[in-house]
Amino acid sequence: MERILEVENLHVTFSTYGGTVRAVRGVDFYLNKGETLAIVGESGCGKSVTSNAIMRLIPNPPGKITDGRITFKGKDLTSYTEKEMRKVRGVDISMIFQDPMTALNPTLTIGTQLMEGLVEHQKVSSKEAKKKAIEMMELVGIPSPEERLKQYPHQFSGGMRQRIVIAIALICKPELLIADEPTTALDVTIQAQILELFEKIQEATDVSIILITHDLGVVAKIADRIAVMYAGKIIETGTKRDIFYKPQHPYTKGLLNSVPRLDEKGKLQPIDGTPPDLFSPPVGCPFTARCPLAMEVCDKVYPNQTELSDVHQVNCWLQDERAKKLLASTVSK
Ligand code: SF4
Ligand code: MG
Repeated sequence: MERILEVENLHVTFSTYGGTVRAVRGVDFYLNKGETLAIVGESGCGKSVTSNAIMRLIPNPPGKITDGRITFKGKDLTSYTEKEMRKVRGVDISMIFQDPMTALNPTLTIGTQLMEGLVEHQKVSSKEAKKKAIEMMELVGIPSPEERLKQYPHQFSGGMRQRIVIAIALICKPELLIADEPTTALDVTIQAQILELFEKIQEATDVSIILITHDLGVVAKIADRIAVMYAGKIIETGTKRDIFYKPQHPYTKGLLNSVPRLDEKGKLQPIDGTPPDLFSPPVGCPFTARCPLAMEVCDKVYPNQTELSDVHQVNCWLQDERAKKLLASTVSK
């Protein structure tokens, strides 16, 4: 399988009056061609910062990528200049955000906004651009595209606007699409339609997708693999099956218990407590203060990554090989 993206040891900080926030603290993950990876976690866990870092959209100052590599198709994006990045954004990698209204310019027609990227990056004729715009509108399921190209964003419903945003993101045929909470602002039935649209698009174009979300329902529908983030770190990664049926990290289990499930009528259990302060993140496991299974070692030393399989990894002392030795030494004392 072709690996299209590899993020290694990514660190991102933000300088504020109160000190330095360590928003992303050594994140590693990869993405294969045609695959959907969901990055899941509560707000403030660093998932949006991670995706913005891939796009090199971290405002500097106050933000900074302080370490790590982001290899996209063999090239390290962290070494790119802003000018070089401008040729990547919207062309090789596209991004869509939560709110379709702010992503569109209210003063320009949909047609103009769709064709902008093509004309700017690919120097196609306006006739060709229009043809591609109509094709894209069809792909994302907008009826009578030819007439609707002349309309303005306010003439479309929220769901239709998000379809247009997706069409704009895809028109230059990027190989990677990053979607940050793409359905959060939409009502439930429209959400489901947009998620179906992602699946359809992936089948039609083989685009790789990074889906950033706090919503495990969204993940259950379209992700192939899932990375769970907590306090600036990925604490568990696996296939959708691994994460939903064999979660190993207490935080992953907590997340799963806090979402409604159709198959179980059990009570929902929110995870008590709040994530740690990222001005001075704990040296050990950041989940210690909220973890029902925390041990003495947990807040002192960060757990190593344990490979449960080729694709399933977890950072938790309950799985860490070193824990057995620690336990043996305390018992023998
Ligand atoms: Fe809980 Fe310890 Fe595992 Fe952290 S390392 S999740 S505190 S058991
Ligand atoms: Mg976010």
